[in-house]
Amino acid sequence: METVRMIEELYVGGEWMGEASTGRTFEVENPASGRVVAVLPDGGAEEMRRAVEAAVAVQRGWEEATAYERASVLWRAAGLMRERAEHLARVMTLEQGKPLSESRGEIAYAASFVEWFAEEGKRVYGESVPASFRDKRILVLKRPVGVAAAITPWNFPAAMITRKLAPALAAGCAMVIKPSELTPLSALELARIFEEAGLPRGLLSVVVGTDPGEMMRPVMEDRRVRKLSFTGSTEVGKLLMRQAAGTMKRLSLELGGHAPFIVFEDADLDAAVEGALVSKMRNMGQTCVCANRIFVQRGVMEEFARRLTERMAAMKVGDGLEEGVEVGPLIGPEAVEKVERHVEDARRRGAKVLLGGERLSGEGGYFFAPTVLAGADESMLVFREETFGPVAALASFESEEEVIERANATAYGLAGYYYTRDVGRVMRLAEKLQYGILGANDGLPSTAQAPFGGLKESGFGREGGHWGIEEYLDVKYVSLGGLGSSS
Ligand code: NAD
Repeated sequence: METVRMIEELYVGGEWMGEASTGRTFEVENPASGRVVAVLPDGGAEEMRRAVEAAVAVQRGWEEATAYERASVLWRAAGLMRERAEHLARVMTLEQGKPLSESRGEIAYAASFVEWFAEEGKRVYGESVPASFRDKRILVLKRPVGVAAAITPWNFPAAMITRKLAPALAAGCAMVIKPSELTPLSALELARIFEEAGLPRGLLSVVVGTDPGEMMRPVMEDRRVRKLSFTGSTEVGKLLMRQAAGTMKRLSLELGGHAPFIVFEDADLDAAVEGALVSKMRNMGQTCVCANRIFVQRGVMEEFARRLTERMAAMKVGDGLEEGVEVGPLIGPEAVEKVERHVEDARRRGAKVLLGGERLSGEGGYFFAPTVLAGADESMLVFREETFGPVAALASFESEEEVIERANATAYGLAGYYYTRDVGRVMRLAEKLQYGILGANDGLPSTAQAPFGGLKESGFGREGGHWGIEEYLDVKYVSLGGLGSSS
């Protein structure tokens, strides 16, 4: 039974609120059963206004704290996340559906960003540049951008938050967060943890509601909010970019993807199958970096398809809370309908279903069978839109040149993968594939110390590594004149 205790309040400017100004509430569902797991106040524009006021009030003090003071709060928060990992993982699986083992993995991954940026905040170095005149000096300073806002998606309910919150706090910025209304509970758990870690009140708010456009309006219009970091769909990212123009906010946009996964004839086929499996099936195929188009060189297609199908057929589907389950439900009914539409379209256009291909009627949950399609091509929806489901669509190719061109023929540019033992080819593809993240013989490249982010319509800005904190820092320079000479 589901006995995990949930936080059913919003965290606004350091206050826990059991009611929202809208007077409404909304329900959070477990996608494995369709049952309600929590009822939350439906936050609105008024809560957001309060959150921004509270952030503005404490921003200056946090800027003036030392990097060491800020780091000690972050380290305590990371420690609490690791201590409570099991509880946090259960909350995540209940609201999001991913298998418990993946939720545990995400909590560790989310904590790793807090730890990384706790230290990175201590390394925000300025520079001094040689001047053109004897009596001048040029000093380059880095300063926090000021109050920042974040909007996050449902597919990684904890990690998408800490990837933004940790660098913002480490750099000296207050943050107002609007998590997805589908997975607010993990976000509120994180708010409690940062509060217990000693984060001064007002520096963090977590406000959730079912009308994101309306509730974010005061934030987008407020010129004191200097930065927006968004992770979500390209469509909403473009809308926010237009809105941000009004106050010229700095932006980081982590948007959709359509990853090619390329297997050459000279690849280690076992490694390629494992890589495809993890890239395709993590989070039931609901990640922005998921393999969406799997290109296999003709000579190994049959063998690769056989092995991948065998591995996917053996995966245990079910409620993510059950130990041993590897494939949970999709996030909701529309997600199932979209996957179904993609599979139907592919079938109609000539793809062959090697495995699955249909929804699974569980007990009210939103399940879709692990699916393998052979003979996919660019005329099909699976090759043009994000599928966001457990569908491996395979297409064969002949040459390196051909596959590079086909892999790049999309508006997206987030992640790409390729498997080959040819070292020259590793480098050629690294340079020619138009993706911000490349897994060369690696199906799982994401990690806290590397710069995660996209090219083209997958957005811009980087999260992770030393690049991640730059997103929350302004560069200023001081031209110091009149030095004269010592006599
Ligand atoms: P979404 O764009 O529908 O929603 C993302 C967030 O934006 C949610 O919090 C939502 O409430 C909010 N939102 C929606 N409309 C809004 C509006 N008008 N104004 C302000 N906020 C609004 O995306 P989703 O379905 O939650 O997430 C899936 C998408 O996220 C996929 O496209 C996936 O590729 C992408 N994603 C990208 C990354 C990355 O790092 N690039 C990571 C994870 C997910």
